[in-house]
Amino acid sequence: MSQSDASSENLNVLTSTQAVIREAVTKLGYGPDMYELLKEPIRVLTVRIPVRMDDGNVRVFTGYRAQHNDAIGPTKGGIRFHPEVTEDEVKALSIWMSVKCGIANLPYGGGKGGVICDPREMSFREQERLARGYVRAISQIVGPSKDIPAPDVMTNSQVMAWMMDEYSRIREFDSPNFITGKPIALGGSLGRDTSTARGVAICIREAAKVKGITLEGSRVVVQGFGNAGSYLAKFMHDAGARVIAISDAYGALHDEQGLDIESLLERRDSFGTVTKLFKNTISNKELLELDCDILVPAAIENQITLANASEIKAKIVVEAANGPTTMDATRVLTERDVLLVPDVLGNSGGVIVSYFEWVQNNQGYYWTETEVATRLEDLMVRSFETVYKTAQARKIDMRLAAYMVGVRRMAEAVELRGWV
Ligand code: GLU
Repeated sequence: MSQSDASSENLNVLTSTQAVIREAVTKLGYGPDMYELLKEPIRVLTVRIPVRMDDGNVRVFTGYRAQHNDAIGPTKGGIRFHPEVTEDEVKALSIWMSVKCGIANLPYGGGKGGVICDPREMSFREQERLARGYVRAISQIVGPSKDIPAPDVMTNSQVMAWMMDEYSRIREFDSPNFITGKPIALGGSLGRDTSTARGVAICIREAAKVKGITLEGSRVVVQGFGNAGSYLAKFMHDAGARVIAISDAYGALHDEQGLDIESLLERRDSFGTVTKLFKNTISNKELLELDCDILVPAAIENQITLANASEIKAKIVVEAANGPTTMDATRVLTERDVLLVPDVLGNSGGVIVSYFEWVQNNQGYYWTETEVATRLEDLMVRSFETVYKTAQARKIDMRLAAYMVGVRRMAEAVELRGWV
C-alpha cells in the first residue's frame, strides 16, 4: 500500500458511514430521497453544561445528543464521556445504532450522546454533577418512548443510576425505563454488564465455524480492556482459547503462552487501565499486527486503516468497538479473505440486552439470567446468519451486507409513514 493511499484515506467517521449508507440504500432499490433522509440524524442537540468542580471553580462542558431516525420507534443508544468526542462522531454513532437495531430487529431507531470530558481526571462527585447536568440539558428530547440512553465509552452503571435519578426527579415519577445499563437494584437487567462481550463471543464462535477454526487453543488478541474487551478476554480464556495480548489506552501486554486474564481483571481500574503496572509493554500498533487467529478491536475508532490493514495477520476480525476499521481497510481485509464481523453486528449484544432491560422495566417483571442469555443467543445467531448469507449471496463485504440488512426495515417504515 503506497504512503499516498494511506494518507489520503477518509478518516471522518460520518462521511465514510454516509458512503456505505448510500450504497446500501441504492442496492435496496431506493432513490436519492431516501439517502437524503438517512444520511444525517433527524435531530442533534448541542448543550453546554456548567459543572461546579471540587475546587470551587465552574467548568463548562459541551455535550451532544443525536437522534438518527424514529420511524420505527424511539431512538436508542449510549452516552460516551471522552475528550475526543465530536459532533460528527456522535452523528455517525447514532447512524450505527440505527443499523444495529435494524439487524437485531429491535423496535428502535438509533441515537447517541457524548460529552467532551476526561472522566479519568474527574472525581466521583464531579462525574455525578456532569451526568446530572447533561440529563437536565437534554431532558426535553429524551424519554422512555422518545429516546432511551445507555452506557458507552467511559460511562457505566453508576453513571446510568445518576442519570435515571435526575430524570425521575425532573418528571416527578420513577422512570426506570428512561435509561438502560442500570445497576440491578435500580431495575437493571441480569446479564447486561456482560452482554456486549457475550455477543462478540457468539460472533467469534459463528465466524470460527465458517472459517474452520477450532476455538480451543486458538490465539486471540484483544485491543482495549474496558467493559467489552475485559469480559471478552475472560470468555475466550474460559472457552479454551489462548489470549496472547490485550491493551489499554497506554500500551499493550503480550505473552505467546497466554496472559493470566484472571489476575489482569483483578488489577484493572474502572476505566480498564492495567498496562501501567507493567514494564515490558508493546504499543497498540504492534498489538494489532501480532500473528494470531482472532483479533478483536474493542477500543475506539480508526484503529485498522490503510496504513496497517495489509499487516493484520488474523483470519477473523470481530469489531467489539464502534468504528475501529475504516471502510477502505474493510475492503483490504475482505480482499485478503479475512472474515470481518462489523461493529453493527459484532457488538450488538449490548443494545439487544438493553432492549430486554427496557421491556422488563415496561412490564415490571424481571427475567432470570438464563432467560436473558437464551434470548440473546437466539438473536445473535440469527443476526449473524442473515448478514453472512447476504454477504455471500450478493458477493459483498460483511459491512455492506450488515448495512443492507440493518437499513431495510427503517427504509420501509419511512416509506409507510409517507416521509419519502
Ligand atoms: N453503547 C452501546 C452501543 O454502542 C449500547 C447502546 C445501548 O445499549 O443502547 O451499542
